[in-house]
Amino acid sequence: MILILAGCGKTLPARSEFMLGTICTINLYQGGTAALYGAVFARLRQIEERMSSNAVDTEVARVNQNAGIMPVKVSAEVIRVLSRALYYAELSGGAFDPTVDPLVKLWGIGTEYARVPEEEEIRGALALVDWREVVIDEEAGTVFLPQAGMGIDLGAIAKGYAADEAARLIKEAGVSEALIDLGGNIYALGTKAKGAPWRIAVQDPRSSRGTYIGVLELGEKSVVTSGVYERFLDAGDQHYHHILSTVDGYPAERGLLSVTVITDTSIDADALSTTLFVLGYEEGRALVDSLENVEAIFVFQDLSVRGTPGALDVFTLTNDQYRIVG
Ligand code: AMP
Ligand code: MG
Repeated sequence: MILILAGCGKTLPARSEFMLGTICTINLYQGGTAALYGAVFARLRQIEERMSSNAVDTEVARVNQNAGIMPVKVSAEVIRVLSRALYYAELSGGAFDPTVDPLVKLWGIGTEYARVPEEEEIRGALALVDWREVVIDEEAGTVFLPQAGMGIDLGAIAKGYAADEAARLIKEAGVSEALIDLGGNIYALGTKAKGAPWRIAVQDPRSSRGTYIGVLELGEKSVVTSGVYERFLDAGDQHYHHILSTVDGYPAERGLLSVTVITDTSIDADALSTTLFVLGYEEGRALVDSLENVEAIFVFQDLSVRGTPGALDVFTLTNDQYRIVG
């Protein structure tokens, strides 16, 4: 994940709460009020209560519980986020797949029941993962999963959507500078005082939160990283992380430690950072290059760093264990 270097000119202290499965920190600068903090966090909570697949009584959980049984009515925004997820599933040939839930639950990475599953269990879960089977009825406002055991997991995209929603509320309240950090899913709103760029650090993917490999200098952008360090299970000498391959059912192994995506909307940055991590550098880079206004930094297991020209232009490497190779 990413940490934020100091901002300036703020009027109220930042506020942090644990939600969306992570620590969410919001920093409102000029014009921020306690009431606005309250409204933004309430909105994040509402998104969590609709989209989490971990709790039992969210809209997504109800869709999953009714897989193979019946369509379930959900909020318009659940359909919007799911549709965006399906768009990235199509774009990536299923590398990104919001129906990955049975696999995610089987591994349980990041939970107390995390374990390395048996081959046969993995095969069974994989058979239930297929984004093309999701049935959305826009008119009725329902989602249906046709096979019992199927499930939706929006964990790779919902935080991005939540960051966009936080930014929208903050702008509507007339606050023009803010930093939204939902567990490293960053939305930097406006520019800092005197037009100075935001300085957003890229987390060192080999260590826990707080050390970084370099700094991005940006105007209003979202920056999202997917990496091996966020949630993992260490078993024997193996390190199993939380981003899963929908081809073999194991943690995606493409020689990468992390991928950081920089773009205008956080929902896209979030979905894409996960997508690129699963695709790996060759395919991931080709995908980024085909998209407008999307930049990316890839950090490899051998500590080399590659990026799109637009990303490297605004990135300063500060950690001499890493090296930029292009
Ligand atoms: P992120 O941290 O945004 O890269 O998202 C990782 C989370 O997305 C995991 O914790 C899972 O909940 C979910 N996930 C894992 N593998 C995939 C995948 N191949 N496609 C979509 N979501 C995934
Ligand atoms: Mg993501």
